[in-house]
Amino acid sequence: MDENIRQEILNAYEFRKQWPPYTYREYLDVTPELLKSFVEFLKTENMGKRKMELQPWITFCDSRCSFCYYPSTMFRGEFVNPYLTALKKELKMYAETRYVKTSEFDEIVLGGGTPTVLSAEQLIGIISFCKENFNISQDYMIKITGSTHNLDECKLKKFAEYGVLQLDVGVQTFNNEIRRGLFIQDSGEHAEEIIRKARQLGLYVCIDLMYNLPGQTMEIWREDVKKAIELELEGIDCYPLEVYPGTLMEKQLQSGELPPPGDWKKEALMYVEAVEMFTKAGYTPVGHDRFTKVREHIEESCLNGWPWAGILTTGAGCFMGYLGRYSYQNTEKVHEYIEKVSKGIFPIAKIHKSNDEDMIKKVMERLYLRLPVDKKEFLDKFGKLPEEMFPDPIKKLKERGLIEVDDKEIRITKLGDIWRINIAWEFANAKAIY
Ligand code: SF4
Repeated sequence: MDENIRQEILNAYEFRKQWPPYTYREYLDVTPELLKSFVEFLKTENMGKRKMELQPWITFCDSRCSFCYYPSTMFRGEFVNPYLTALKKELKMYAETRYVKTSEFDEIVLGGGTPTVLSAEQLIGIISFCKENFNISQDYMIKITGSTHNLDECKLKKFAEYGVLQLDVGVQTFNNEIRRGLFIQDSGEHAEEIIRKARQLGLYVCIDLMYNLPGQTMEIWREDVKKAIELELEGIDCYPLEVYPGTLMEKQLQSGELPPPGDWKKEALMYVEAVEMFTKAGYTPVGHDRFTKVREHIEESCLNGWPWAGILTTGAGCFMGYLGRYSYQNTEKVHEYIEKVSKGIFPIAKIHKSNDEDMIKKVMERLYLRLPVDKKEFLDKFGKLPEEMFPDPIKKLKERGLIEVDDKEIRITKLGDIWRINIAWEFANAKAIY
């Protein structure tokens, strides 16, 4: 990379944020008043008319990857049936509300945890239940999250025959030495074999790759990106490593078992390398962290409708739900989850109700999602232009070459793409003038 470009990238900020605003990390513990107000909200009609995502969550996992901070539960066969009964009951509780009856879903996404620890029949059973109980669009998509170590040809065939569109698998890296350090259960070769089989069966495959892992040089990272391109994947989600307190990786780093990851500059340059390699190979960057080759990812309603669409998520530990102004996370403990649902209580542990200012800032967060902010729509909704509400952040970001503003919209630039999370925080931390 040209030294001037490298300097321009690194001069934009003094630190690269890893996580955008308005996520579950900021929600407060649920109170009886907030739960009541959420339940009252569910009695209203969904006037938004944007297609939404339905995301039942399988909390179980049979691994303990050292970086993992997901609120998952170690897989135990005897928990499965009571959990699935509770999951269906919670789905039904939502399905019977007016808000959900007046909503339409065009994606069913089994998230987790690792849904593929369950059998194909169990997973298909949940998807069928969703189809029977919710308004599902004709052109809906089914996606299943999983791990390559608990997938085999037989399961993949059943998914393909049922009409699953996409498998989302957490590969992280194909490098075996790094995989071992992360306690990932299978080898890079096995992950590759499963991916090839899934694609031969006609499934889309979207993988997670992580960069700035301990011991991962720029060369190893390039090899991972190269392998993803060679596999002709439909999508690749690239995440920077975040060492989360309490994870096994935190201990591995403290004890010296793993070398420390690189600093933010190395992290930013690894991302830039991926952008260059993927775009050269014909991939388009979309949404949070994805590079894609398929129309479905670019046109995804839930992504393009932010923040007005919605994700209805259910299951122990699920944390990506947002309906109207409410964002929520469910209780993590399986026993507590089953008990609450059996009593007909929404098993919400944390919740956030966005006020007007939050909604304004969430619209500006579209820049983080690589979506433009439509100025006319903004004016119609909030009575002022983004430049009037956020004069200082917009001036600063324009001067730094991170955003472009014209009569119609605000967009991120190529340089801004690297700093999308920092950009979202500029707006979240500013005082909106309205
Ligand atoms: S497979 Fe996924 S959910 Fe399970 S430990 Fe690894 S990262 Fe976490």
